[in-house]
Amino acid sequence: MPIYEYKCRKCGAVFEQIIISKHDASEISCRKCGSNLVRKTISAASLKLSSHSAGSIPSGAFSGGCSSSSGFS
Ligand SMILES: [Zn+2]
Repeated sequence: MPIYEYKCRKCGAVFEQIIISKHDASEISCRKCGSNLVRKTISAASLKLSSHSAGSIPSGAFSGGCSSSSGFS
């Protein structure tokens, strides 16, 4: 399941959030101050992966190639 890193634009806190559905992505709020002014940042894992394959990152890359994790689209 995809884990994204978010940064709060209000207090600057950085936290990770597991996104299971689109609904979850729209309900993200800062764990520190509760603000919903959060911005998704690119995680280090994604950066490392994209440097090798300069294309789209497969969503199942972190789950061992299991094709059942197609709920996030
Ligand atoms: Zn905050």
